[in-house]
Amino acid sequence: ALPTIYAITPTYSRPVQKAELTRLANTFRQVSRLHWILVEDAAARSELVTRFVAGAGLPCTHLHVPTPRRYKRPGLPRATEQRNAGLAWLRQRHQHLPPPQPGVLFFADDDNTYSLELFQEMRTTRKVSVWPVGLVGGRRCERPVVENGKVVGWYTGWRADRPFAIDMAGFAVSLQVILSHPKAVFKRRGSQPGMQESDFLKQITTVEELEPKANNCTKVLVWHTRTEKVNLANEPKYHLDTVNIEV
Ligand code: UDP
Ligand code: MN
Repeated sequence: ALPTIYAITPTYSRPVQKAELTRLANTFRQVSRLHWILVEDAAARSELVTRFVAGAGLPCTHLHVPTPRRYKRPGLPRATEQRNAGLAWLRQRHQHLPPPQPGVLFFADDDNTYSLELFQEMRTTRKVSVWPVGLVGGRRCERPVVENGKVVGWYTGWRADRPFAIDMAGFAVSLQVILSHPKAVFKRRGSQPGMQESDFLKQITTVEELEPKANNCTKVLVWHTRTEKVNLANEPKYHLDTVNIEV
């Protein structure tokens, strides 16, 4: 059978949230055997996301975990707890399913842009696969440098000393690897800005072992797009509209 792709998406409430999730679902709906693990950064599941998931038209698991307030500061990594909640769910779901169904996990932030070809590429991940990411690291793209089919370095404009100089959107991991490294998680303690990916990948693989995708990492199939903050300067202070409308 085609391996299932598990996409872990941390998401949080803000004016553009439903627009981001709509765009993401429109992409994911076109991918066969994709299971969406949507993890709200919140103390409880919100009504907006609950309704959205019900109508999304794809297999979806809706989780939530709040980021402790002390970690909601500029310069600190985002969505650590949410990605770990997704990992925990995945491990728990498969601990009683011998032998594990073939699967591939990747981390899909809610604001990035994903081509459909990306899913074809990651679907064949044996252990850990990597590919370029567009619009990130202060460059047009960041990418693993490949020689003779092996990753030998990183093309990046930012902190080239990172062991894995790659964005969250630039790799996928087989379910088998996730299950055989039950302690691999994203860390808060001792984690420096921009080191989440490296800290995680270090626990499960080596640079030599990485599988280059996207034509030996020469094609950009995912973009680290970021959505502009919305101008709400003209919102009335009190509720004026005749309907209470969800945006
Ligand atoms: N996110 C979250 N809680 C936050 C901030 C971000 O769950 O307080 C999620 C966000 O929805 C996205 C991911 O974490 O899916 C990465 O956040 P963002 O896109 O803001 O990071 P950047 O683009 O700067 O890497
Ligand atoms: Mn983002």
